[in-house]
Amino acid sequence: MTAPYPWLEEAWRELTARARRDALGHAYLLAGREGLGKFALAEALANALLCEARPADGVACGACRGCSLLASGNHPDLKRVSPEEDKKSIAVDQIRELIEFFTLKSHYQGRKIGIVHPADLMNTNAANALLKLLEEPPGAALLLLVANRPALLPATVLSRCQRVDLALPDWDLRERWLAEQLAGRDNAPKLGEISLCGAPLEVLAQLDSARPALADDLIAALGAGQAGRLGPLEAAKAFADAEVRRLLDTLELCLQAAAQLHAGHAPRQLRLIDRSLRQLQEIADKLHFEGLLAFLDRVAESRALVLRSSGIRGAEVIENLWQTWMKTTHRETAS
Ligand SMILES: [Zn+2]
Repeated sequence: MTAPYPWLEEAWRELTARARRDALGHAYLLAGREGLGKFALAEALANALLCEARPADGVACGACRGCSLLASGNHPDLKRVSPEEDKKSIAVDQIRELIEFFTLKSHYQGRKIGIVHPADLMNTNAANALLKLLEEPPGAALLLLVANRPALLPATVLSRCQRVDLALPDWDLRERWLAEQLAGRDNAPKLGEISLCGAPLEVLAQLDSARPALADDLIAALGAGQAGRLGPLEAAKAFADAEVRRLLDTLELCLQAAAQLHAGHAPRQLRLIDRSLRQLQEIADKLHFEGLLAFLDRVAESRALVLRSSGIRGAEVIENLWQTWMKTTHRETAS
């Protein structure tokens, strides 16, 4: 295997083939759901390009000067830009530093590579500064933008990048890979006994978390809320130990699955156990589509808020959302 993960094989082959033909563009946007390993793909590509052994299969040799510098984290021709510690966005000064990095000549006569991750967390000024770089990229520059939600990037930035869309692998591949990761672990949750959601690395993090059955718990809670048996305060308390971002991600996936069920399709992003599938189908049957979509918008808003601002309490977010959920479902059921 050559790509960092089996489901990235095709994108990896395509990018490294271009590199071998010397046909890489100046800027790529690696886009797709969180948990697909997009950053690992960007790193592996940078590593392959900075390896001085020029490997025919595109896999860095791990032994040359370039590879040693990369391994020690000191390669002068690679710069990574991410939100600074405790910050929720990438600031304009960080992009200015990246531009300065690109104006200097390559140390080893090769490419200069910048990885911006996650690029969708650039603030407006940072995105505008990056645009100037994208409009006139220096000869040796390669920019790799990694984005979970590319729609948050300005169209002007999007239009100047070649886009590599990474799709979710099918569930069989996800489960095969997960089974390999979990093999030999004593207290690993059993696949098939809890619902799984999201991209492979996301699912693995879910299984490693304190709430591996979060999707099942949430679906049960949504049903109880719809029936008026679980109020906002109780819901906030029930999910107090769940990490708020994962909670909102999972809630979003469950509601999208409800929308798919409502339309008569099987949910794509979730691998639901039978009990949860039945519960979610019941929830979906009782809802009007418009109410469900409006609630999904509210969840997306809360998610964006949590991503961009600090100091937001998870319990507060859940309590507010639950009030809306109960209002939505009460009105729907009453009408
Ligand atoms: Zn090497």
